[in-house]
Amino acid sequence: MTSDYDYVIVGGGLAGASAVEGIRERDATGSILMIAEESHLPYDRPPLSKKLWFGKMQLEGIFLHDRSFYETHGVTLALGAAASRLDPAAKTITVAGGATYGYGKLLLATGCKPRKLDIPGGDLDGICYFRGLDDYLHTKGKAAEGKSAVVIGGGFIGSELAAALNINKLDVTMIFPGELLCDRVLPDYLARAVQQRYREKGVRILATDQPVSFGKDGDEFVTRTGKGETITSDIVIVGVGVVPELALAQSGGLETGNGIVVNEYLQTSSPDIYAAGDNAFFPYPVLGQAMRIEHWDHALTQGKWAGRNMAGAYEPYTHQPYFFSDLFEFGYEATGEVDSRLETFADWQKENDTGVVYYLRDGKVRGVMMCNVWNKVEAARELIRKRVTMTHGQLRGLIRGYR
Ligand SMILES: Cc1cc2nc3c(=O)[nH]c(=O)nc-3n(C[C@H](O)[C@H](O)[C@H](O)COP(=O)(O)OP(=O)(O)OC[C@H]3O[C@@H](n4cnc5c(N)ncnc54)[C@H](O)[C@@H]3O)c2cc1C
Repeated sequence: MTSDYDYVIVGGGLAGASAVEGIRERDATGSILMIAEESHLPYDRPPLSKKLWFGKMQLEGIFLHDRSFYETHGVTLALGAAASRLDPAAKTITVAGGATYGYGKLLLATGCKPRKLDIPGGDLDGICYFRGLDDYLHTKGKAAEGKSAVVIGGGFIGSELAAALNINKLDVTMIFPGELLCDRVLPDYLARAVQQRYREKGVRILATDQPVSFGKDGDEFVTRTGKGETITSDIVIVGVGVVPELALAQSGGLETGNGIVVNEYLQTSSPDIYAAGDNAFFPYPVLGQAMRIEHWDHALTQGKWAGRNMAGAYEPYTHQPYFFSDLFEFGYEATGEVDSRLETFADWQKENDTGVVYYLRDGKVRGVMMCNVWNKVEAARELIRKRVTMTHGQLRGLIRGYR
């Protein structure tokens, strides 16, 4: 039997939950079904590698809404249910186990899943490919003062978790193939300074190395690396990037590439089906290119935007998302094309700590990172939008505010 809904949202993450708000801004009564693989109510992921570890937030605080929100907004929740098949011609979606639902408009907000390591022991029970609340609960349950952790990956997830575990007095070893942590985003000089800070805090860093196998010795994990290191630890966390969830979109024959391809209205190649958040490959007009973005503000805003468009708004997505991270005392907000391969100009108030890094192409600002400088995202967005050639002299002091 098929139940029909005006709107079906697949994915109970930030983009999915925001879509509910977007739909309800324009349609107070249309029926909504949310199909979500995780059994938790939608929650925020950033605190899983930050605030929850520092006592700055309690677990209850991560949920985007309580259950009554979904009741009062007329949302039927199918939690713990994975959608497995999509039929755009029949406008139906089928959940593993067999239930089939009809939709008027459909949103695929299925996010990303962690990239797995294809090495011996890569799928060993207890190795944590960190992404969700269950991974946090698992790791937190094992993390105690004096325990040891190996963190594979020098990107933001690995770096944030290594800092969190170090602050919780665990003995932490990081292993990653590059020379410097977070080096896809941080320019060389800044990545070097951040890495030095990690070392000073007591994090052992094995750069230009990678795991070749995981094993077990009693309760402990044994990690062997390409350069011949053997490290035993109570915990192994892997954060080596994510891949977009495309299987469902592909089951319905939708166009996919580095994400589910959408137009400026966030419609997929089947116009009644939308995609938003970490899984969407969308046109980013200010940067003049299509891209996929894995950040909180993007999922929040694009999810809501998709919801509004599903309910008839028909507005092109023009938001310029920002992102943020905290690496010990070094925190930042950034927007635009923050790619360390671009030319950079750093305008420091305190070197490699407080100031603004500009990312330029042909003299024009493409991205801005505000390091321990807050509430300046709008100024950075405007500068990127202007697309005018700027000299270092013109940039100095522009955003960090002594002009
Ligand atoms: C630990 C961590 C820390 C982060 N910190 C930051 C930060 O500091 N700053 C920042 O800007 N960003 C951060 N991010 C990124 C940010 O959280 C993501 O960009 C955001 O969560 C993406 O939201 P989403 O809804 O698109 O996808 P997700 O949050 O991945 O949600 C997608 C949901 O869909 C479900 N799903 C997938 N397939 C199906 C299916 N077939 N059927 C049903 N359900 C399905 C998944 O189970 C998942 O619950 C962090 C991410 C993580 C993991």
